[in-house]
Amino acid sequence: MTQPAAAAPARTVTVRVPAKVNVQLSVGGLRPDGFHGLANVFLAVGLYDSVSATRAEQPRLTVSGPDAALVPQDRTNLAARAARLLAQRHGISPDVHLHIAKDIPVAGGMAGGSADAAGALLACDRLWGLGSTREELLQLCAELGSDVPFSFAGGAALGEGRGEKLTPLEVGGTFHWVFAVAEGGLSTPDVYRECDRLREQHGGSSEADVPAPTADPALLAALRTGDPQALAAAVRNDLQPAALSLRPALAETLTAGLEAGALAALVSGSGPTCAFLVADAASATRTAQTLTASGTCRTARPATGPAPGATVV
Ligand code: ATP
Repeated sequence: MTQPAAAAPARTVTVRVPAKVNVQLSVGGLRPDGFHGLANVFLAVGLYDSVSATRAEQPRLTVSGPDAALVPQDRTNLAARAARLLAQRHGISPDVHLHIAKDIPVAGGMAGGSADAAGALLACDRLWGLGSTREELLQLCAELGSDVPFSFAGGAALGEGRGEKLTPLEVGGTFHWVFAVAEGGLSTPDVYRECDRLREQHGGSSEADVPAPTADPALLAALRTGDPQALAAAVRNDLQPAALSLRPALAETLTAGLEAGALAALVSGSGPTCAFLVADAASATRTAQTLTASGTCRTARPATGPAPGATVV
């Protein structure tokens, strides 16, 4: 009887990573180090990128999907940076072909780049047989960017500091959303600058002028009980006025979603994607159709949250 051959090392590892919406994004005053303190309640939602890592002779990166042309395919890509950081920590060379199948809107306020960084870390760790712990990978995520640890973890979490200090949150049900994807992106740093500029016009933008951000207990309770009406009453995004100032047409998208029956409408993170909380799956389908037909966005897509974090598929 022939013995089964020893398992060959994987040639390709694929990881699926979710997008996020900030159900609360409270932005503190501008700190002397140029960052803002945040109280950031993240919810992972079921729009996913896939990151595949394949053995290669030298580092290579490719991207597919309708918005592939908008994604940098050089060393600056966050997935490539993640692979280099992991390789450097282990004293190995980052020879890997990363392929990103992009479905998360690019520069859309849904942390697509952060998702790809989290996905690349996990995929490369498994491909290279490094066996890093979850804590070790989360530490590398935090070095790559303030949203990357949450993309890795998924679910729901409160992010404090610059967003990178994460506390997982309990969620008592599935929330139904529709995401209206805009034509073109918004730069996150530009939106923060606009937020500061608007605050300067209304009393000041420093830490002395703006209340320290804290998580809203009513919002955390709404997540815990899985109550969409209560969550709709509590969602809040301090970056929304800045995103609307830079992209006034988003106001029409928000109105179109509310007229279609959404319980709440808000800009997702730094925008320009708009997020609509709806009552159930049937309302999500209806609202997405109405929004797409309204001509106020490029497309509208239903998704549920919470979604799992980076997962090997
Ligand atoms: P966030 O919500 O975290 O502020 P975002 O969703 O608005 O981010 P991303 O899609 O992460 O924006 O892209 C922001 C910029 O990052 C892009 O314009 C692009 O130049 C750069 N970038 C680097 N790597 C990636 C990547 N893998 N996917 C998308 N964009 C990337």
